[in-house]
Amino acid sequence: MANIQCLSPHVADLIAAGEVVERPASVVKELAENAVDAGASAVFIEIRRGGMELIRITDDGCGIAREELPTAFLRHATSKLRTEQDLAAIGTLGFRGEALAAVAAVSHVEITSRAKNASGGAALKLDAGKPGSVTDAACGGGTVISVRDLFYNTPARLKFMKKDSAEAAAVHTVVQHLALSHPEVSFRLIKDGEELLHTPGDGRLLSAVYAAHGRDFALSLIPVKGGSGDIRCEGFITKPLAGRGSRSLQSFFVNGRLVKSATLTSALEEGYRNQIMKGKFPGCVLHISLPVTAVDVNVHPAKTVVKFLNDKAVFDAVYYTVLDALNGKESIPTAKSVSSQVNPRGDFYQTMTAEQFRAKQSAPVKGGAKPAESAAQTRAAPKAPQTAFRTQVPPVKSDMRPAVRAEDPEKFPFPRVDPVETKLVDRKSGAETPVFTIRPPKKELFPASAVEKQPVSPIGSVKSVEKTAEFSTKAERPVENPAPMQAAIPLGEEAEQVTLTPAPAPWRIAGEVLKTYIVCEEGETVHLIDKHAAHERVLFDRLKAGSYPIMAQELLSPIAAEIGSEYCAALMAREPLLREFGFTCEDFGPGALLLRSVPSDIDAADAVSALEMLAERLLQCRSTDPAAARDEMLHTVACKAAVKAGMNSGEKELRVLVEKVQSGEIRYCPHGRPVEVTLSKYQLEKMFKRA
Ligand code: ADP
Ligand code: MG
Repeated sequence: MANIQCLSPHVADLIAAGEVVERPASVVKELAENAVDAGASAVFIEIRRGGMELIRITDDGCGIAREELPTAFLRHATSKLRTEQDLAAIGTLGFRGEALAAVAAVSHVEITSRAKNASGGAALKLDAGKPGSVTDAACGGGTVISVRDLFYNTPARLKFMKKDSAEAAAVHTVVQHLALSHPEVSFRLIKDGEELLHTPGDGRLLSAVYAAHGRDFALSLIPVKGGSGDIRCEGFITKPLAGRGSRSLQSFFVNGRLVKSATLTSALEEGYRNQIMKGKFPGCVLHISLPVTAVDVNVHPAKTVVKFLNDKAVFDAVYYTVLDALNGKESIPTAKSVSSQVNPRGDFYQTMTAEQFRAKQSAPVKGGAKPAESAAQTRAAPKAPQTAFRTQVPPVKSDMRPAVRAEDPEKFPFPRVDPVETKLVDRKSGAETPVFTIRPPKKELFPASAVEKQPVSPIGSVKSVEKTAEFSTKAERPVENPAPMQAAIPLGEEAEQVTLTPAPAPWRIAGEVLKTYIVCEEGETVHLIDKHAAHERVLFDRLKAGSYPIMAQELLSPIAAEIGSEYCAALMAREPLLREFGFTCEDFGPGALLLRSVPSDIDAADAVSALEMLAERLLQCRSTDPAAARDEMLHTVACKAAVKAGMNSGEKELRVLVEKVQSGEIRYCPHGRPVEVTLSKYQLEKMFKRA
């Protein structure tokens, strides 16, 4: 490997661009974040062909001065950071000065901007990062930036792009998160002329949640507010009964930035311990605010990973806030009340290194110790960068700003729509919470012609479908289409098999413990069988072999599943497969599907979480082979149709499973976990010190 040479700036730019700009969604994220940093109150995003053909973002922020337009596109050019010290106190979303350069390197960019107080606007075009000359241009206050033909000059990257619908769904997710992170900004997303999202920007987090994730999710939430010392935690979490099939609706924002953090996830989930069904995950929209010096955001080019100076204090702030809300405590814990509680899960805390954990244990307990208490933090107080930009996340307050500001066409070239007040009604308490929405109306549940054809049924009318949204949780929603009563484990076929090939000496079923494990005796050996895992395997094998017909149960009253656009796109891309397995779904407006039938083995109340589980698996699945998608479907149906741990099972049902395990037909669940463990007499005797 001789002949080491420096890369040409062009190649170096392309490599750097690859880290920041992965797909259209990353371009939208960077550009919309710039708009937020510029103090915009409205951000308008248009995409065509999933953003591959065009991304155009218009904001009413502070704009860029004419003479600075070309500089903005240089690598490492930023107005948000000046000195090394600033890096320790980042209060803006951007700071690396890379995004504009990276986007411009792999597309055709056109920018028009007018800085505050400037007499006129200016425009600049760049091709593959090369700027033309700055020209005069008509422009209201703010910035319009268009990105065309993304990756046209990097064919290797182009190959990795998914279908337009998948790219558009990823853009939608990014904008949803931005809207949730900044409820005081009105976000509007248009995809190929269709409005996918429009938040009022009225400063109310619930309005943004409603616009971004829909009514069902908004209804399933409990408000939370707490924290200790400088760490505040505020937002919404789902009621325990409204657990989801995946973590996709967990959104954490740290100082207004969406982050992925094991600390935050485990703090949330630990708060639900023993309150949520196994296999279900809580959803949340949580804003955590802490001094900018107490968090390092410069960990990853995409800026979604952060490092907390005091991980444990952040964990505690979130954990106790969640716990208090779930326990119905109104009071906001003070630093004292938090620190005086003993964390019952000290040993669970796995996000710290052992060394850090031990150090914490031996240090005097400070609970929500203020980050400022550590040596590293005794340096200068939080010092925000000297910019015209917002340096602190505005607190999410209901009265922060009047509803959408009066329109000024000169200022922002897109019509602003007045938000409409809607009431979210809690079915149990009757409590009404106002939210403001400018969401486009959902598609008709039934086309006018179909309404007449609908069977007249007390539970099948259009009205009753709409009403489903008023049930506070999916689990509480009455099952309108109960599957015919049947044994959870089909017995007929096995009964036959039992008579044909009876096991020589059937294991004696001593009973079932913890509603999960079947205890059997065979001579001097005790067998413990996980009934859910065993049943899941049986169903999986049968489905895979095609020996088990899949029947669909038609729902009298369709279910509106608001599962987010990314999940919808993943599922609709596999629509024929879904139909084959008994799920009949239709597009039901942004982020929603209308479910008309489900596999008869799956409880209708479980159908939405089954779809969420499937969508998550399809998105995770890297392979494009249809067989891989089919396998994910088999896994999902088998898992959801299998008897659950915690359910009561009849002896006959248990017997069927025991015989399958005894014959050696099943050993592992489809995920590879063992279905059976054995204990010998000798092992038991050793435990009792008899041997
Ligand atoms: P960063 O956001 O990390 O500073 P960018 O490359 O995204 O880097 O942007 C470079 C600079 O261009 C920003 O620091 C900001 O001054 C300016 N800028 C970019 N977009 C906008 C916008 N929409 N409105 C005002 N200024 C902008
Ligand atoms: Mg930026």
